[in-house]
Amino acid sequence: MNYSQLFIPTLREIPADAVIASHRLMFRAGLLRKLSNGLFAYLPLGFRSFKKVENIIREEMDAIGALEIKPTVIVPGELWKESGRWDLFGDSLLRLKNRLNNDFVVSPTAEEAFTAIVRDELSSYRQLPLTLYQINTKFRDEIRPRYGVMRGREFVMKDAYSYHADEASLDETYQAMGRAYRRIFKRCGLTVIPVKADSGAMGGSGSEEFMVESEIGDNTLILCKDCDYAANVEKASCAADYALPEPESADSIMSIENAKAAAANTPPYEKIDTPDVKTIDDLCAFLKTEPKNFIKTLIYRAVNVELDLSGAPGCSKLERSKPSKDAPFVYTEAFFAAAIRGDLDINEVKLASLLKAGEVSLTCDADVIRLTNAPVGFAGPIGLTEIPVIIDKSVSAMNDAVTGALEKDLHYRHAAYGRDFTSWMIEDIRTVKAGDRCSLCGGELYIKTGNELGHIFKLGNKYTRSMNVTYLDENGKSQIPVMGCYGVGVDRTLASVIEEHHDEAGIIWPASVAPFHIIIVPIKYAGEVKNSADKLASELTKAGFEVLLDDRDERPGVKFNDADLTGIPWRVVIGEKGIAQKKVEIKHRRDKENRMIDLNKAVIELVKNIRDELDQLKK
Ligand SMILES: [Zn+2]
Repeated sequence: MNYSQLFIPTLREIPADAVIASHRLMFRAGLLRKLSNGLFAYLPLGFRSFKKVENIIREEMDAIGALEIKPTVIVPGELWKESGRWDLFGDSLLRLKNRLNNDFVVSPTAEEAFTAIVRDELSSYRQLPLTLYQINTKFRDEIRPRYGVMRGREFVMKDAYSYHADEASLDETYQAMGRAYRRIFKRCGLTVIPVKADSGAMGGSGSEEFMVESEIGDNTLILCKDCDYAANVEKASCAADYALPEPESADSIMSIENAKAAAANTPPYEKIDTPDVKTIDDLCAFLKTEPKNFIKTLIYRAVNVELDLSGAPGCSKLERSKPSKDAPFVYTEAFFAAAIRGDLDINEVKLASLLKAGEVSLTCDADVIRLTNAPVGFAGPIGLTEIPVIIDKSVSAMNDAVTGALEKDLHYRHAAYGRDFTSWMIEDIRTVKAGDRCSLCGGELYIKTGNELGHIFKLGNKYTRSMNVTYLDENGKSQIPVMGCYGVGVDRTLASVIEEHHDEAGIIWPASVAPFHIIIVPIKYAGEVKNSADKLASELTKAGFEVLLDDRDERPGVKFNDADLTGIPWRVVIGEKGIAQKKVEIKHRRDKENRMIDLNKAVIELVKNIRDELDQLKK
């Protein structure tokens, strides 16, 4: 294809709102233009690469037996009301009405649409398992769309939904998806970090996120230097940093017996005066000790708690709202004390998932005073009976600690877990930080921020139950299928390829997603140079490669800059002097130096190199 016939409006200047490389380069290289905030149009060059990403995803989905369908983008609001998400999704769901005043939504995701299609057709276990997918437009009315197509309002996603008679079958598809996702990202030339997470509230069945490292990523990842442990900080755990008697180390909680034994030489706990001491730092200075010798106790308010609190301290009269078959215990509001070693921090996301709570936050001072009978700053696990006390595993190893005494200006010292206090619940509620040790191998943990490109998720029967999907099993009994969902953002994947493959001059496309494989740059598109350029382009095209021929009447410098900016992997320069000796100059976009080769060897050389790269990406 000739450059002059393509619409490639490259820019010298950088768009003012473009802070990341992919956003900058997609505009500068003429791949993309902005229609409005969070709404982008792909221009010819950008759309060529976009379709290549789509096709890689399509090939890998087809290879594992997923079936592509084409549902609508506009979906009846009724389906979203059935699933319960009409109310839950909030303002990022774009709702609209037609002339008959019926509700519709512009799909941000399609569990409802797919499940409705399957519901109408599914009758027998013989039809299962079934995996359907689409590569289709989605819309989320983000408050702050940013970073170009990395976080746009309209985007294209591959979303797949699978339906199964049992968990084993779901697991098989889930595993196959995980392998397909690894291949998809590898073929796009991306280095992804698969992050396994327990999906907690969904029944603990499992999910895996595929992240790329990114300075603007909205996920904080905890990674191990020595093994492939990777977790979202919200879920990350680490090895206990205290000695546990064997064989307890596996669970990193000291048993009450062992804790008591460890406290054998600790003097009995006693009250001490700590006047005008409010913070742990004050206390440290006052007692001339370190934060790790304190038990820090905080009071939390949790809303929409779905955990059974009927046996928990102080909870017998809690107000319960709307219990259902799936959530028999829904407490509108409940209070908890959470205690952790003084040098560590409580992870509110872990706490919320432990309590199956909609939200968990530190409560107000008035509630602290009411629940602990003491001013803020003097809470502690000894004698705290008004509310359930949750302690972090780290507290189980504390046998001579300082803690609040539930009275103004008083603390206890020599407090020992097991001997002086226990808890309603003992769990890992600690925020893992850089430098903590890996629970798998003991290696050092470090932090990176990442962007999620894909997510695979076991949903269980959440949607199939709420939307009344059933089938008849082998015995003619009606059953509810289990379901999985699997998404990849196409735009975000494309932008991430540019994030990983660029330099100051522009994009450096991997061959698999490059808009063209080869750019031929005639120094002056005329005479023998033109003939040779045309012939080379036609031969390479015949060999199955995509060639862009820069036929513009521009200075060589301009053409070279545009070739670098648009990032086409192989550049062939044809000049009068070279062609007189039947030579052309070739260079990979990554390389600094070019080399002269015989014109009649150019096709073989380029074909071999591109095939090698494509094969390498597919391995
Ligand atoms: Zn490790």
